[in-house]
Amino acid sequence: MSDKILSLRPNRPSLIRYLDSYMRRARTSGRQLALLIIQVKRGQEFGALFGYRSIEQLMEQLAERLADICRDRDRIMRIGDHEYALILPDILNTGHCILAANKILRALSAPFQVENRIVSMGANMGLAVFPEHAAQPDTLLQHAELALSDAIRSDAPYLMYKEDTQENLAGTWNMESELGTALDNCELEIFYQPKINLRGGLLAGAEALLRWRSPTRGIVPPNIFIPIATHTGQIRELTWSAINMALQHAATWPTRFGPLSLAINIAPSLLEDETLVRRVADAMGIWSAKPNRLILEITEAAMMDNIDVSFETIRELKNRGVMVSIDDFGTGYSSLANFKNIPASELKIDKSFVMNMLTSKADANIVRAIINLAKSFDLQVAAEGAESMEILRALAALQCNYAQGYYISQPIPANAFAQFISEYVPPVF
Ligand code: C2E
Ligand code: MG
Ligand code: MG
Repeated sequence: MSDKILSLRPNRPSLIRYLDSYMRRARTSGRQLALLIIQVKRGQEFGALFGYRSIEQLMEQLAERLADICRDRDRIMRIGDHEYALILPDILNTGHCILAANKILRALSAPFQVENRIVSMGANMGLAVFPEHAAQPDTLLQHAELALSDAIRSDAPYLMYKEDTQENLAGTWNMESELGTALDNCELEIFYQPKINLRGGLLAGAEALLRWRSPTRGIVPPNIFIPIATHTGQIRELTWSAINMALQHAATWPTRFGPLSLAINIAPSLLEDETLVRRVADAMGIWSAKPNRLILEITEAAMMDNIDVSFETIRELKNRGVMVSIDDFGTGYSSLANFKNIPASELKIDKSFVMNMLTSKADANIVRAIINLAKSFDLQVAAEGAESMEILRALAALQCNYAQGYYISQPIPANAFAQFISEYVPPVF
């Protein structure tokens, strides 16, 4: 097998890791990097008609053809049943990426021989370029996938990411009915991102982050489907099922670090749902969860939108012992006057400040100010977006209580998180 092929089995988490290291190199060399996602047209139909072995053979041949036309430093990785990602680590401009896409189309136009059948295969591609379309691996992937979804929808051979793709997509998908099916078919899955205690580095808990594993669209990120679910009202059902699934998982976590906290995101609109408190209490009862281990994350902007109702709901949750964390803190508009009555237990500093705190003095000042604000109101403070050891050290020096971020781990599936707990070694500060 060509060493340009990194994996012939679907392996999305390691794509993010590879992208991360290639993007770091591109950043230091000042080069651009392109990500192409190639999806076989009607792959599912093909699989159903000819069987698993045939589709695997087809995918292997496809990888070999891609390897034949790629440069030595390009990399190919399977990321879905019918999907490959292609990383082109140094390109001069976006035109270069289009040239590559055309080359791929030509290479795929010749038929394949699978078992003893001659088949021709079409593909759609989504393209995104670093740094023009995204600065982080997960966003670059997300943008290439959005472009791919658009290409599939308009049956274009390839499309380059455009900023308004996200909106177009939301408008044109029949997301409501697809989400309904997703709920029925259990296509929603929870990933966990570990959170560590910055005093000593021990594992403190995890944040539950939803993913939608759609059979037709691959993994759909929450910032696409949560706003739509909120709009259609499906967010309620989705959240109740997320709370139950997460508490069920948490009940089985290894206990080597003592009881771990579980953070769940609550959409703003649910603060006005009078069944929220009862639903949370019921779910805790079913899974025998200790309330002070459950943290509900509510964004700052949401909380400040309707202070009377949200503060009341938070107070009720607090009375039942459930903790509330104010997510994305620093991006909303809390005035100090409101702040003094906030019934929360934790502030969670938005990742946009944390990620850049070592390079931007302004961001470092904001991080410090939020930590001090939390301390003076007797709140815990957590930082998200800790992407390096240096950031962890800087946060620990500022006496931030908790951190989570790609340096410790990306969000990972439930079974991988249980494994993570068993194997976790605290960093040395
Ligand atoms: P959030 O609650 O602020 O979650 C943190 C987001 O930051 C996650 O994105 C996580 O993967 C990302 N992140 C964490 N560490 C790093 C890092 O070091 N670098 C970078 N660049 N990113 C990092 P994700 O999983 O895509 O979630 C996005 C948002 O979707 C969440 O933001 C949350 O607002 C929403 N969301 C996710 N699951 C749910 C859910 O079950 N219910 C609701 N209502 N919202 C959810
Ligand atoms: Mg959150
Ligand atoms: Mg956040």
